[in-house]
Amino acid sequence: MKQIAPEQRALPILGTVSPRVREPTAEGTVGMQRPFPQPVYVPPPLASRPHAAEIGQWLDTLQATPFLELVGHADALRRQKHPDGVVSYIVDRNINYTNTCVTDCRFCAFYRRPKDVEGYVLSYAEIGAKIDETRALGGVQILMQGGHNPYLPFDWYLGLLRYIKEHHSIHVHGFSASEIELMTRVTKLPLDEVLRQLKAAGLDSIPGAGAEILVDAVRDVIAPKKIGASRWLEIHEAAHEQGLLTTATMMYGVGEGWADRLEHLVRLRASQERSLRRGQGHYTAFIAWSFQPTHTEMREWDIPHGTGMDYLRTTALARLVLDNFDNLQVSYVTQGPKLAQLALRMGANDFGSLMIEENVVSATGIDFIMPESEIRRIIADAGFTPRRRYQDYTPWSEGDPGCPCCSWRGRAAA
Ligand code: SF4
Repeated sequence: MKQIAPEQRALPILGTVSPRVREPTAEGTVGMQRPFPQPVYVPPPLASRPHAAEIGQWLDTLQATPFLELVGHADALRRQKHPDGVVSYIVDRNINYTNTCVTDCRFCAFYRRPKDVEGYVLSYAEIGAKIDETRALGGVQILMQGGHNPYLPFDWYLGLLRYIKEHHSIHVHGFSASEIELMTRVTKLPLDEVLRQLKAAGLDSIPGAGAEILVDAVRDVIAPKKIGASRWLEIHEAAHEQGLLTTATMMYGVGEGWADRLEHLVRLRASQERSLRRGQGHYTAFIAWSFQPTHTEMREWDIPHGTGMDYLRTTALARLVLDNFDNLQVSYVTQGPKLAQLALRMGANDFGSLMIEENVVSATGIDFIMPESEIRRIIADAGFTPRRRYQDYTPWSEGDPGCPCCSWRGRAAA
């Protein structure tokens, strides 16, 4: 029988996980010494997929529609939804409170296993200092995400949220669906109760990370320990039911096909439809980017990595399928500013975030972070009016008392 390391036995979840060997490399401990061998991906047959007929129709459309016609349709839908010619962006900071993680996603260059010398957990005071810097630079939001660190009790998250709300005026966009799943496993509380307590402690909205490709056959290959596609959707819809806004993402170029990307988009569309019908929270935006292989376990896999045309086609297709999403963000951090600028004419209406700090994508060696003046110049050069916004897409103005959705919640609670 396989021996389980003592530190693994102590984990409240995933007690049977055996840690992989991570040995020092020329790059320190970044990257695996022996990358995981590439598993064979067998795409599910179309007929077995949820929403098979819809996926089939979109596959036919994709095949029959020339590129310029497809992106033209997407641009027309963008103009219909945003006729004012504005491209918005937000000023915020990514705070990755811990990089310790037991989920071992094969596409991830950011995490460190428990006991790794490079592992960290930020203190409340360190996070507070980062928020102070963010506010001083005009930031209105923190995007707070971390590894799946089984040593952090639920009270740590609740205490952190209360600490932030007590000392800082900032919107907390935090904790992806898979982090919330970890909280339910650690506490053994129902999902609704975990979400209720997070919201009461100060969580304002939930980011769409951890979606990757919402097809379990793909997830089994790239992140076999992560939550399945249905659970990801269930967590977002449960958050919506509690009145929280969330976003949705897709990381493509991991060996999947168009049927997989379309299944992801069609399932998201159906999820948004259910949430809009319930009339509480919903998805505010969708963001897609291509997998960045450097320093990850998948770096030597034989898979076609994303190209410029692929990104633009995916953006246009997402705009058309997700016709019940108001906003589509570009990902200039992964695709570069020039491609992001083109995407604004092919379905996207938002430039995402001026990130005062970013750690996850930059761990792969990609880093296109830009100053605000450059973001505004790129948006204006594409023929749009740049405008700062808040998380809920309300325009920002000088002298605002703070994020409108947070102050609204504050008044409702009073
Ligand atoms: S993507 Fe998130 S859950 Fe997966 S290994 Fe990285 S930090 Fe952990």
